Amino acid sequence: MQLLDGVLVSAHIKEQIKQEVKDWQAGGGKQPHLAAILVGNNPASEAYVGSKVKHCEELGFGSTLLRFEKDITEAFLISEVERLNNDDTIDGILVQLPLPDHISGDSVINAISPGKDVDGFHPISLGKMLLGQPTFLPATPYGIMLMLEYYKINTTGMHCVIIGRSNIVGTPMTILMSRASNPGNATVTMCHSKTKNLKEITLTADIIIAAIGRPKYVTADMVKPGAIIIDVGINRIDDATKKSGSRLVGDVDFDSVAPLCSYITPVPKGVGLMTICGLMKNTLLAAKKAKELIG
Ligand code: NAD
Repeated sequence: MQLLDGVLVSAHIKEQIKQEVKDWQAGGGKQPHLAAILVGNNPASEAYVGSKVKHCEELGFGSTLLRFEKDITEAFLISEVERLNNDDTIDGILVQLPLPDHISGDSVINAISPGKDVDGFHPISLGKMLLGQPTFLPATPYGIMLMLEYYKINTTGMHCVIIGRSNIVGTPMTILMSRASNPGNATVTMCHSKTKNLKEITLTADIIIAAIGRPKYVTADMVKPGAIIIDVGINRIDDATKKSGSRLVGDVDFDSVAPLCSYITPVPKGVGLMTICGLMKNTLLAAKKAKELIG
């Protein structure tokens, strides 16, 4: 078994981005600038946004963090997004999800200018991705593709089973893994909460991508020996041995699955770090304002 090491791969990609930012600025380009919006004070969202802002500093990007109380109106939030759309100093806009229940995430995402949609969640970005046109790829699926590419894993002809059908992970992952490129070129099966006989299906998988949100859900008896395992899940579970009283685990039961498989991503230090790379690569692209990405 080989670990797909998010620390190693993200360090490599971040060095590339840093150099690209320097070259871009040396050629007269402006410093890439990411604006992040955080509504409320969900601890996980705070941690994710904090990490994104910290990465901006590390990579030589500018960043602006806008924080709002959880009782702001949808109309106000959309007006803030529109203000950022019209601000030429801002290249990328991300709205940290989930939003409070009274605010429609779809309406807010739809308000982001497609040329600044660095999370790749806007319908235009997703539509272009579906059609294979250049666009911002959703950050987590993009990060997973970068990980597979780094390890030169040839997925052509593989049976790829994706568990989860969310708009931000599972669904775009099915598109990317089935498109005519490598990584990609896979025969894809999408499974979800209403799938019958999940285990029967996962046992036929050469590669499993788990984006379920259930701790240690994929167990050894569901995995074909030699399969490749990509664990997207980030779940906090109680752990009395930790000072904090809890720890993060994935959707895959790492301890039982790892000895069986050919490659596996750990949690933490796996896909989460790759998501940041996807976001940062998109922000740099936005700053370069590749014409075909806009509108
Ligand atoms: P989601 O809740 O939107 O979707 C979960 C999906 O899992 C659903 O489509 C559902 O149909 C499916 N599912 C639920 N129970 C199932 C079951 N018993 N069998 C089969 N399928 C089942 O979640 P999401 O936003 O896609 O996130 C999934 C997980 O990935 C979460 O743990 C989340 O925290 C994590 N996540 C991690 C990153 C990262 O960067 N590593 C990014 C996004 C999400």
